[in-house]
Amino acid sequence: MNVEHTVLVVDDAKQNRDLLTELLRHEYRVILAKNGSQALERAQELQPDLILLDVMMPDMSGLQVIQQLKNDDRTRHIPVIFISALDSPGDEERGLDLGAVDYIRKPFHPSIVRKRVRNHLLSVHHRRLLEQLAMIDSLTEIANRRRYDESLENEWRRCARLDLPMSLGIIDVDHFKAYNDHLGHAAGDQALHRIARALQDFVRRPGDLVARYGGEEFALLLPGTDVAAAGSIGNDIQACVAALQLPHPASPISNVVTVSLGGITTIPRGGQVDPAFFVAADQALYAAKAAGRNRCVWRSG
Ligand code: GH3
Ligand code: MG
Ligand code: MG
Repeated sequence: MNVEHTVLVVDDAKQNRDLLTELLRHEYRVILAKNGSQALERAQELQPDLILLDVMMPDMSGLQVIQQLKNDDRTRHIPVIFISALDSPGDEERGLDLGAVDYIRKPFHPSIVRKRVRNHLLSVHHRRLLEQLAMIDSLTEIANRRRYDESLENEWRRCARLDLPMSLGIIDVDHFKAYNDHLGHAAGDQALHRIARALQDFVRRPGDLVARYGGEEFALLLPGTDVAAAGSIGNDIQACVAALQLPHPASPISNVVTVSLGGITTIPRGGQVDPAFFVAADQALYAAKAAGRNRCVWRSG
């Protein structure tokens, strides 16, 4: 875990910056700032995993710096350790109140600094793992509904800002109840896993997402993709799932597992996702089902 972690050291005294760099550079990428405004800039831009922040600095104190860090969405998640020569319990309390995760007194003991940094970075690592796990569907191992909701909101805003089209597809397994009834729920689970893997191959650009929406339904988000390209991806997905050749002895429309897709492409307007967007995709899915299943209906609107 170590080498990929970046630590931002903020101190106005070169001697302290050098000391801390020497202490940490073998295990982490160390970046430096010599005053508060530089610290804020570097933190926003370089997104360090941890900040070691001096309290007493001439232009802006460490206490002011942490307040600004915590008031900014881009930096509030970054843990801050104060390193300070102020050593009254009041100062320490103040630092912790402002959101610091730890407070180390100067003169510091090198091995203690190293160990505390290591412990805090371990927590960062664990928190990230948990955050990632919370976004994954356990059965299919692809993104879950929560991740989908988050991506949709972000990508909707991004497309609205850049005047780009946004495409959403809903993929529903055909006659899946009959599949379960005939082959058992465990076989159904396996089929969902296989289908999810196949869908994942259609995620090709940054921002694209395939998620398990719920049950035997998947959602496909294609920001920046126009209706022609999205419709063609929809057709490819339909063909790709049929080509998996998963036998479906109880399907009235085919002897293999098939999916139906409904999709919609629009140019997002405004910062909030229009609820009609999903409804339109769902209606297209309904049309695909009504027209005989194992097909894709993609619309623009
Ligand atoms: P249609 O072609 O109209 O979509 O028919 P369908 O049978 O697929 O639709 P319906 O909504 O009636 O049934 C969905 C089935 O999907 C019922 C449910 O047992 C199955 N299903 C949903 N989630 C899971 C799951 O996690 N595992 C398994 N094995 N089956 C699931
Ligand atoms: Mg369904
Ligand atoms: Mg279904």
